[in-house]
Amino acid sequence: MSHLFYQTKSPRPVLHRAEGIYMYAEDGKRYIDGSSGAMVSNIGHSNPAVLDAMRAQMEKSTFGYRLHFQTEASEELAEKIVARAPEGLDKVFFVSGGSEAVESCLKLARQYVLTQGEGTRYKVISRYPSYHGCTLGALAITGMSTMTAPFDPMMARMPKIPAPRAYLDGLDADDPATGLHYANMLEQKILDEGPDTVMAFIVEPVGGASTGALVPPAGYMQRIREICDAYGVLLIHDEVMTGGGRTGTFFGAEHWRTAPDLICLSKGFGAGYAPLGAMIARGDMVEAVMEAGGFVHGFTYAGNPLACAAGSAVLDVIDKGGLVAHSARMGDKLAERLRGLMQRYPLIGDVRGKGLLTAFELMADRATKEPLPKSLNAHSRLVDIAYDNGLIIYSRRTRGGTSGDHFLVCPPMIVTEEQLDEMTDILDRSLAQFMAEMPRMAAE
Ligand code: PMP
Repeated sequence: MSHLFYQTKSPRPVLHRAEGIYMYAEDGKRYIDGSSGAMVSNIGHSNPAVLDAMRAQMEKSTFGYRLHFQTEASEELAEKIVARAPEGLDKVFFVSGGSEAVESCLKLARQYVLTQGEGTRYKVISRYPSYHGCTLGALAITGMSTMTAPFDPMMARMPKIPAPRAYLDGLDADDPATGLHYANMLEQKILDEGPDTVMAFIVEPVGGASTGALVPPAGYMQRIREICDAYGVLLIHDEVMTGGGRTGTFFGAEHWRTAPDLICLSKGFGAGYAPLGAMIARGDMVEAVMEAGGFVHGFTYAGNPLACAAGSAVLDVIDKGGLVAHSARMGDKLAERLRGLMQRYPLIGDVRGKGLLTAFELMADRATKEPLPKSLNAHSRLVDIAYDNGLIIYSRRTRGGTSGDHFLVCPPMIVTEEQLDEMTDILDRSLAQFMAEMPRMAAE
């Protein structure tokens, strides 16, 4: 009997080893890591260059408390990150994961507004659905009732606006009027809340687990920036899932050429080699906070040299392999294949995404966008079938308005076209199996 208690319905096989896009269980069964874990293992598993860099760092030191020592590994990684970040965002604070990165941004934002004599600002507007982490601060700005409900009384109530799900609202995502329509909801919310109470707005440039690779409509990201500027509201890009190249640009927001005031990074940044995340902040914000007495924050493991050495090597692998551009190309190929399946399976109501942050959504009726009945439990059933067939994908059913079962298909950025074919074949087979089961499931 296992002493661990994670949320899996049945015990999972024991992982024996992993290499490239493949994972092998102890019984020898092979799985394609079609979701890079939880959109983490961006450069695939067991990359020798990263393992070498980690071994070399281990020989030097595995821990140096950040208040006692600077380390070469963290300095080097910070430099590489700043070189990729938008101009002016030149300060980095390392953490060990996405929730920690989000918490760090919220706290730096708050300390910054205090230095500006704007202590009335504390509200963080976010979107629903959205996911920003599982700690209580990050959860307060998360728009997923399934995750937040038990903890509601323990959290600050933060205002939310709808995510721009144009496909559900019957709007044309390529029409700039659609982008304006959704972005202006932010302005209205700021006015309703009282502009002098609003500290920040947080947004995932391309939606992740909550919306299933939702791409913002034309003009949305730019208009959001304008609105934040007009009302003195800080803009936080949660790039925990999009940062690191998966969408076909290093930061997801590069597609729209907009820059935030703060960025959260994690997942693909450590790429599964070490727990790693970061907050990237505007230099002048950090300066103001430091001058006013310092940032009242810090996790014991922040800036861990082993994690930073891994992150640094991951960035080199991404650069040397041209993996960002490859991700854009493979993303197009994957979307083509998913659209092919969509033609054959009316159940697939939408295919969306950017680069290799790609998803499809199942619906009862493509025309009306009616979701499948909740009782079918489609999001978990199709994942289980695919898993048994040797393909790992990631799914969620998000409530909050009309919504359905969506599936993220996000293989490591090293995936080849042949491997995409292999994945598509398994998905095809799994969808057929799921369809065959449906009448029985509906009758139960
Ligand atoms: N923000 C986003 C956009 C995420 O996708 C996630 C993880 N799914 C988080 C924050 C939280 O990251 P972590 O699970 O590493 O704490």
